[in-house]
Amino acid sequence: MTATVPVAVTDAAGRRPSCPADLAVVLSPASYAGGTVLDLSGPLTAGEIVLDEVVPARAPWSAVVRAGQVLTIVDVGGNQSGDCLLYSAADTGERYSVPDTISWSGTAYVRTGTVLRSNYGNALATVVANEIDRQDTIGGACGKESNTLRYGHHTMAEHGCRENFLAEAARHGMGARDIVSNLNWFMNVPVEADGTLGIVDGISGPGKRVAFRADMDILVLVSNCPQVNNPCNGFNPTPLRMIVTAAAETAPEKARKTAQGTEPRA
Ligand SMILES: [Zn+2]
Repeated sequence: MTATVPVAVTDAAGRRPSCPADLAVVLSPASYAGGTVLDLSGPLTAGEIVLDEVVPARAPWSAVVRAGQVLTIVDVGGNQSGDCLLYSAADTGERYSVPDTISWSGTAYVRTGTVLRSNYGNALATVVANEIDRQDTIGGACGKESNTLRYGHHTMAEHGCRENFLAEAARHGMGARDIVSNLNWFMNVPVEADGTLGIVDGISGPGKRVAFRADMDILVLVSNCPQVNNPCNGFNPTPLRMIVTAAAETAPEKARKTAQGTEPRA
């Protein structure tokens, strides 16, 4: 008889995220490579939690994050690439732009303070906290076609981030023309001295987080990268946790609510 190891489906604060699959299975180390450590961590900023979901390994995800709200992404199992695209929720023709973001920020890496710009040069979001040294926005997304070219025709049956993006984009009335160059949260893509790019083992770890604040209402598309042919996910795709916290309430707003009796005075 094998002892059943209980799986923690809440974080240290007792919060249980929602999940489209069985959370106990998604958070069980037995679902992943030997030695996998899973850490649900928690939001990086204060404020009421308005959305809290775990994205299973290899799955897509999307949500609208309202202006002022903060999205914390938790790398639950460590070294897991979260490929990400941003759109103006009001007009998806306005979307994340790698060249605008890099030229305005003056650096190839994304770090705390980086403003994520649209193809119109507007601020879509700003990175407000980041627990790994640098985040990538030049490594691009994997896909079926590039996998077969890079790794051989036997990978044809594997879906990639491009297929995840297309499936999730379809839910919002978008298609192939809307899939542009993306962000890769937690992916390690060093730019070498001679300008070449590497895709190497991650600099992240279980429970590491990044958080960005929406500067307008944005639609966020994420592919929890299914790649198993290079080290971008440590050859072991694991879940991501997405936590949206409400905009921090200003003191005058709080005073007004208290005066109206719509908020407890405690
Ligand atoms: Zn991928």
